Amino acid sequence: MLKRTSRVHLSIVACGMVLAGGCGRREAPAPASRSAAAPRPSILLVTLDTTRADAIGPEAKGIATPAFNAVAARGRRFRQAYATVPETLPSHASMLTGLYPAGHGVHENGRRLDSGQPALAERLRGAGYRTAAFVSSFILARRFGLAPGFDVYDDEMPAGRSERSAQSTTDAVLLYLAREPRDGQASTAPMFLWVHYFDPHFPYDPPEPYARQFPGKPYLGEVAAMDAGLGRLLEAFERTTPGPSAIILVGDHGEGLGEHGEALHGNLLYQSTMHVPLVIAGPGVPAGLADGAVSSRRVFHTVLDFAKLDAARSLRGADTEVVLGEAMKPFLNYGWQPQTMAVEGPYKSVLAGRLEMYDTVSDPGETRDIAAQPNRPLVPAALREYPVPSPGVARAPVSLDAEARRTLASLGYVSAVAAPVVRKDAPRPADMTRLFDLLERASDLFVNERYAAVIPLLEQILAADAYNLDAVLRLATAHSALGHDQRATELFRKAAALGPQSKDVRLYLGLHYAKGGEWEKAAPLLEQAVAEFPDRVPALEGLASIRERQGRIDEAIALRERVVALGSPTAAELVRLGRLAMSRGKTPVALNAFERARQLEGPRFAQELELGVLYMDARRFEDARSALDRVPPSHPEYPVALFKRAQVSVLLHEPDAAARIALARRHATAETRELIERERLFQGVR
Ligand SMILES: [Zn+2]
Repeated sequence: MLKRTSRVHLSIVACGMVLAGGCGRREAPAPASRSAAAPRPSILLVTLDTTRADAIGPEAKGIATPAFNAVAARGRRFRQAYATVPETLPSHASMLTGLYPAGHGVHENGRRLDSGQPALAERLRGAGYRTAAFVSSFILARRFGLAPGFDVYDDEMPAGRSERSAQSTTDAVLLYLAREPRDGQASTAPMFLWVHYFDPHFPYDPPEPYARQFPGKPYLGEVAAMDAGLGRLLEAFERTTPGPSAIILVGDHGEGLGEHGEALHGNLLYQSTMHVPLVIAGPGVPAGLADGAVSSRRVFHTVLDFAKLDAARSLRGADTEVVLGEAMKPFLNYGWQPQTMAVEGPYKSVLAGRLEMYDTVSDPGETRDIAAQPNRPLVPAALREYPVPSPGVARAPVSLDAEARRTLASLGYVSAVAAPVVRKDAPRPADMTRLFDLLERASDLFVNERYAAVIPLLEQILAADAYNLDAVLRLATAHSALGHDQRATELFRKAAALGPQSKDVRLYLGLHYAKGGEWEKAAPLLEQAVAEFPDRVPALEGLASIRERQGRIDEAIALRERVVALGSPTAAELVRLGRLAMSRGKTPVALNAFERARQLEGPRFAQELELGVLYMDARRFEDARSALDRVPPSHPEYPVALFKRAQVSVLLHEPDAAARIALARRHATAETRELIERERLFQGVR
C-alpha cells in the first residue's frame, strides 16, 4: 500500500512537470539580441478555426492563400505544429494559457476556463497594452472564460446565428481599429489584438466568388474566403497600430475530411485534425522554415516574449520539444479509451488502449503503424505520464440554458451528459468510426428535445456499443420525457448498474422521480446531485420545485437564487425567483430578480404591477410610478394598477392626484372600490 502511494505521488510530480512543460527537452533561451530601448511591438494573434495544415500556405494543395503566404514569406513557418486538442475551446484555452488541458482543465467544448492564474491578456494589460478580442463563434463566447484581461471582447454574432464570417468579423475589427485610441488613452500604447476566424468549420458554405472558384471543394472555398478577410485585417492592423508589429497565425485544429473515417474533428488524434498551420513574424524573427515539432500552446509564451515580459519557451527560441496532445471527448462522453499522443522529431505515438506509432514526415497519411516494429524509436515517457481526466478532476460543465445547449448543438457540440466512467471493455475510438455520424445526429436531436426521434438512433448506438452510459442515460431520459415510465425506470436501473459511481445517473434518476411526483424518492437523489454539481441548473431547479411542493419556500428561494447567480439566467428563471421572494416578503431579492427579467424581456415583460407594488414597499415611489405607468390597460388587474398609481400620486404630492383617484374609481371593480373608499391616503385629496 505504501509503495502504491509513493508511486501515485511520483506520477503526480511527473504530471506537474507535464503541466509546466518541463517534460520536453530542455530548451535554449530565446536570443538576447533585443535592445531594452526598442519599443514593444503591437501583437496580432489570428486563430484559424478548423484549418488543416495542408489547406493554407505556400505548400497548400489546390488553393492560393496570398494573405497567409505574405506573412509566411517574412516570418518563420513551423511545418510540424500541433494543436493540443482537436476541439475549439480547449485548443484556444491552451494557446491563451500555455498549458495542456490537464493543466487548464478544459478537455472539451461547453466547459469554462478557470485556470486559476492570470490570463495572457491580463498580463499584457498589466504591462500597458491595449487588449481586444474578436471571436467568430458562440463556442468562444465570453461565458466560456477566455475574456478576462481583454478591454474589448467582441462575441456579437448576427441575430439568430451562432457564428459570423471572416468578412463580418473583420468589419467589426476595422471599425474598432479606426476608433482606437479613444480620447484620453495614450496613443503610443501598443496593442494586443486577438482575432478568431471560423469560416472553414462545418457546414461548408463559402460565399461567392469562392463557391464558384472551388466547385466540389467548399471546404477550401471557406479557407480562401477566410484568407481574404485575413488580408484586410493585416493591412488595417499594420496601418493603424503605432510602432513595430508582431503577427502570429495559427490553426486551432484541422478537419478529418473523411481521413481515418472521421468527417469532422474531435474524436481522433491523426494529422488531419492535429497538424495545424503556424507562422510567427515580427522583431527578432528571421524568415525561414522550422521543421521541429512544436505545440501551439507555445503561442502563449511567444506573445509574452514579443511583449518583452518573458522569453521562456518562446517560438522565437529553440523549436524542438516533446509535443503532447489529447482527444478525451469519446472517453468523457461514451466511456471509450482515453486518447493521448506524443510527438518527438518525426515520430508520433498515439496511446488509446494500445500504442500506435507513425513517421509523420515520410508517412503523413499515417498509413503504416510502426509500433510493432522491433527497431522503432522509444516512446517518450511523457506519453504515459500524461494525466487522464477523472470525475474528480474534470471541471463541471458551465451551466447552459436550453437555448445555449441548442446553439452548441447546432455547431455539432454538446456538453457531456455523463461523467467519465472507465469501462473495462472500453473500445478504441479509432475502431468506432462507424458510429461518429450517428452519435452527432443523436446528440443534436436530444438537445433539441426531439425525444421520439432520438430513441431509434440511441437504440442503434446501443446495439453497437451496449455499455455506452451516455446513450443509456439519454435513452432513459427520452423515455421519461415521453411518459414511458416503466421503460425509463428499467433503463435508469441499467445506467446505475453500468455506472454505480456516476453522479449523472443520480441526477437524471432524481429528475425522473420528480417528474412523476415521487418527491420522497426524488429529494435525496437531488440533494446529493446539488452537492455534487453545485452549478448544474437542472439539479438546482429540480430540488427547488420539490421544496416548493413541500412548502419549504425559503429553501426554494435560496436554490433559485443560486440558479440566477450562475450567470445568464433566463427571464423565466428570474420571474420564478421574483414571485417566490415576493410571496415571502423578500422585497430586495424580488425587486432585483424582476428588474433583471425586465431588462431581458423588454416590452414583453409582464410583471410591471408586481414591480410597482414592490417599489412602494421599498418606499421608492418614483420607481413605483414608472413601473405602474408601464402596466398596459389590457392587464387583467389594471384596476389594481390604477389604485396603486393613485396612492403613489398622493405620496409624491403630484398635482393631479385627485384626477388619479377619480380615474381609479371609474375603473374600479367591486374589490378595488372597497379598497379605494377605505384608503386613508385619499381622504381630503382635492
Ligand atoms: Zn475549432
